[in-house]
Amino acid sequence: MTLPTHAQIVVIGGGIIGCSTAYHLARDHHADVVLLEQGRLTSGSTWHAAGLVGQLRSSASITRVLKYSVELYKGLAAETGLETGWKMTGCLRLATNPDRWTEYRRLATTARSFGMEMQLISPAEVKRMWPLLDVGDLVGASWLPTDGQASPSDITQSLAKGARMHGAKIHEGVRVLGFGMTGNRITSVRTSAGEITCDKVVNCAGQWARQVGAMAGITVPLQPVKHQYVVTEPIPGLAADAATIRDPDRRTYFKEEVGGLVMGGYEPDPQPWTTGDVPDDWEFRLFDDDYDHFEQHMVQAIARVPALATAGIKQMIHGPESFTPDGNFILGAAPECANLFVGAGFNAFGIASGGGAGWVLAEWVMTGEAPLDLWVVDIRRFAALHRDRQWVLDRTLEAYGKHYTIAWPFEEYTSGRPRITSPLYARLAAHGAVFGSKLGWERPNWFAPPGTEPCDIPAMGRPNWFQAVGAEHRHVRDAVGLFDQSSFAKYEVTGRDAAQALDYVCAGDVTRAPGRLSYTQLLNSRGGIEADLTVARLAEDRFYIVTGTGFRTHDAAWISEHLPAGDVRLTDITEDWGTLSLMGPRAREVLAQVTNADLTNPAFPFGAVREISIAGAKVRALRVTYVGELGWELHVPIAATGAVFDALMAAGAGAGIRPVGYRALESLRLEKGYRAWSADITPGDTPDEAGLGWAVRLAGRGDFLGRKALEAARTRPLAKRLAGFVLDDPEVVLTGRETILRGGEAVGYLTSGGFGYTLGRPVGYGYVRHAAGVDEAYLTSGAYALVVAGETHPATLSLRPMVDPDNLRVKA
Ligand SMILES: Cc1cc2nc3c(=O)[nH]c(=O)nc-3n(C[C@H](O)[C@H](O)[C@H](O)COP(=O)(O)OP(=O)(O)OC[C@H]3O[C@@H](n4cnc5c(N)ncnc54)[C@H](O)[C@@H]3O)c2cc1C
Repeated sequence: MTLPTHAQIVVIGGGIIGCSTAYHLARDHHADVVLLEQGRLTSGSTWHAAGLVGQLRSSASITRVLKYSVELYKGLAAETGLETGWKMTGCLRLATNPDRWTEYRRLATTARSFGMEMQLISPAEVKRMWPLLDVGDLVGASWLPTDGQASPSDITQSLAKGARMHGAKIHEGVRVLGFGMTGNRITSVRTSAGEITCDKVVNCAGQWARQVGAMAGITVPLQPVKHQYVVTEPIPGLAADAATIRDPDRRTYFKEEVGGLVMGGYEPDPQPWTTGDVPDDWEFRLFDDDYDHFEQHMVQAIARVPALATAGIKQMIHGPESFTPDGNFILGAAPECANLFVGAGFNAFGIASGGGAGWVLAEWVMTGEAPLDLWVVDIRRFAALHRDRQWVLDRTLEAYGKHYTIAWPFEEYTSGRPRITSPLYARLAAHGAVFGSKLGWERPNWFAPPGTEPCDIPAMGRPNWFQAVGAEHRHVRDAVGLFDQSSFAKYEVTGRDAAQALDYVCAGDVTRAPGRLSYTQLLNSRGGIEADLTVARLAEDRFYIVTGTGFRTHDAAWISEHLPAGDVRLTDITEDWGTLSLMGPRAREVLAQVTNADLTNPAFPFGAVREISIAGAKVRALRVTYVGELGWELHVPIAATGAVFDALMAAGAGAGIRPVGYRALESLRLEKGYRAWSADITPGDTPDEAGLGWAVRLAGRGDFLGRKALEAARTRPLAKRLAGFVLDDPEVVLTGRETILRGGEAVGYLTSGGFGYTLGRPVGYGYVRHAAGVDEAYLTSGAYALVVAGETHPATLSLRPMVDPDNLRVKA
């Protein structure tokens, strides 16, 4: 078959992801698709996958993606005539200690929150289901009956056939060699069999996706890592429909295959493959068996399934798979290129994800927007740091090694640190800072008081820092604290048309007079919240935008892509400015000692931005708060950040000023009801649903992104609404995703959860859903409770901030 000279969309890679994406592009969108595979279909990582298909993840959307895979695999053979090998065997996860058991109790609640049934069962029940298991050390197991297993090659061939049936063209033996580009847009794909002009390209090149991406100048931070499993001869007594097993405390997994077992694991000392280019001629190839390295899994597996000791090993599979620095896959529109999309880095759950990932990626390619909240897998979660191969390698190996360890709440990665530090790093360390890391930045999570060990000790219950963070929190409410928020992402938008352009991108009114700032959302075409940030107007033609550390690439890409044509430019100036947030009732008193600026309310009201002078530096002072107190965000030229910090600390001595960390910030913002993007507000939630309708301005302005969707939605009843919840029992630990009950019925789940030290109670936020509408009367009339790790606790709903609902403290 000769290669066409043009295609609307070229998909690169004939593994499960490329085939699923081509299938959905053709089936759902009737797109003109050409898929190119350098070898034969499945010949990369797909053919040697073990084929376990699990569904539950900590993100609701990713769980939905995986559930979609299962639904697709169930029915695909009926459509294409090619079997997928799908078997709904269910999955048992074994727990051997109380912390793991707590993890499962929380997981089972998460499953229920996401509409799945996960049961917790006793060791005796496990034994009954899987007689070959030694259950002597078990506390219990979780049982998810709808998980299963499938044949990776068969699914992929079935998807490929389906894609062809819907009109896609698949070419094997065609290697992509490079791209023809105009500026940051691909115009053609150069291949070993000729050139194809195209409108869009989808990079599903598996472990080659990094080097294929580099051909177009984009970063795909993945690392091939070696992964092994063995396949045994038949084992007497093993049922053909035996559940798949995950035994994370022994770091192993099992699956039945032709009467024998597939057994593999995630070791703490993984072996990376090359950090250079992956060879092109790696078709259906494996590494040599490495029984020395695998022995650690064998020992643990035999302890769990003693029959393995005498079972013959039919084959060892030792293949490469691409892993990523955070264990999540990589999807979406590459920020560096206008028409290149990526679906890669599947961390050994590409078979489980393949069906759903192809579905959402196809939607993304066609509409330019993620159809769900896919932030955790969005390629725009990365930044310049991820171009560093060594850093990616180190962090990826750490993430691989943690695949089966207990997911401790608040756990931080340790590799590749410190990477980016603010000028205050040493000063804060001297105050006992215990740092966390976000997008490479070291940020103080909390400050260890003298006599306290300055580190996090993993815990499922109350953590070791609980009291210290409480003291920081109360200090901000009662006196004044200083936060180093220098990692905030910061941009300037400038030009003659800047105001008009931002007016189109923002849902709030950002065109106020210079000197004013606005809190606004940026909306997608569904009215969902794509970003949530502060825009300060510095001059008629100059705006300063501040957003969260982790959202730097994402928000800049979203704004740049949507700025209408004209005299307008976005510049990322994150590293040029340090940020010190001075917060608390005594903030004015402290600030007044280091500046001559008039800080009174008439001269410097809430929502204003002024240039003031501190310690000889010209500082952009923004009167805003994320903690619900009087305060200023001080944006300081980076070189002067240390001097301004010192001046404030000296001036604040009388008021008892102290540095405060991000864990106290989280507790303060929860009580005040400030929303966190990616948790409480996402591309799947509108401002009205999030209780942020007040921040949108419709009157007296023209079209803006999301306006039509918002207006249309306002003609219908709201189907969900974000609300706050407080529990009476102060001992309950909320971590998010707990089920919300109204009148005993599940109506939603928490998107954020924590502890409010001013209230002395656990606090959470979550959407209450009701198809017929959730007006205030409905919301406030129910009897609410939260299911936390399987236990039901009465809760009080609150639609207003729980602390300072009238903003008297903020505007003091
Ligand atoms: C030992 C092992 C066990 C696993 N077990 C499981 C499991 O139980 N469950 C599960 O869900 N997942 C499992 N996985 C993971 C799974 O195999 C992968 O996540 C999945 O196959 C990735 O699919 P892909 O399409 O992204 O990549 P691939 O299958 O590697 O496909 C990428 C394709 O792109 C092609 N390509 C690359 N460069 C070019 C180019 N320049 N031009 C044209 N074509 C190109 C390659 O030839 C390749 O065929 C396992 C992986 C391993 C290694």
